[in-house]
Amino acid sequence: MPLETALINGRPLKYSIRRSKRARRVKVQVCHRDGVVVVLPWRTSAAIMPDLLADWGEWMDQKADELGVRLGPRIKQYATGSTVMILGEPCLIEVREVPAGCRSSRVERLGDTLIMHLKPADVFDTRPVLEKYLRKVARNDLTTRTEYWGERLDLHPSRIIVGERTTRWGSCSPSGTLSFCYRLVMAPPHVADAIVAHELCHLRHMNHGKGFYALLGKVCPWYLEADAWLSKHHEDLIL
Ligand SMILES: [Zn+2]
Repeated sequence: MPLETALINGRPLKYSIRRSKRARRVKVQVCHRDGVVVVLPWRTSAAIMPDLLADWGEWMDQKADELGVRLGPRIKQYATGSTVMILGEPCLIEVREVPAGCRSSRVERLGDTLIMHLKPADVFDTRPVLEKYLRKVARNDLTTRTEYWGERLDLHPSRIIVGERTTRWGSCSPSGTLSFCYRLVMAPPHVADAIVAHELCHLRHMNHGKGFYALLGKVCPWYLEADAWLSKHHEDLIL
């Protein structure tokens, strides 16, 4: 997406415009990966931008500073020679072209090397392919971890969901579904364990009261250290 420039409070701000067939109204989104994005319903003219910036400019400005995307999305390059953390261990990336006749990109792990076989369209930004791979690894890993800790605590979730969460690493629903952010698979195993144990303890205590922390502290005495690790490194766990 080409980047547009706006001048807000005398400072330039880069943003992109995305057209959506499904959007009913104008939306503004700000995230690390895409930067500042204005989503316009399909038939809405870009001529509304000056008015929109008058209304939303302050907010976009503040949000862009908060996330460090004032000059566009934060593109991390994952190319040959870069590393990505998997279960807290660095994996060296090697990018190759997909063999002739192969239509989709795929990732294969050989020891501590991650070989990304990419079709040409995926070469410029390799993150979606990497994300898909990490989600798969996370689904297996976090499910196994939940089963292990579930046995120890004798607490069993009704369902486990591994997906993207932007504000929390895990959650527990009243119906007993545990959800985890797939990006935990990049953290060291003791950190993922602490989050899994935390959510499992909610199956007994649906709060953060004394009983909850007594149980968590008993099975996972390093939970505070794990929380500290995540608050220090959460930016590193964004592709
Ligand atoms: Zn909690």
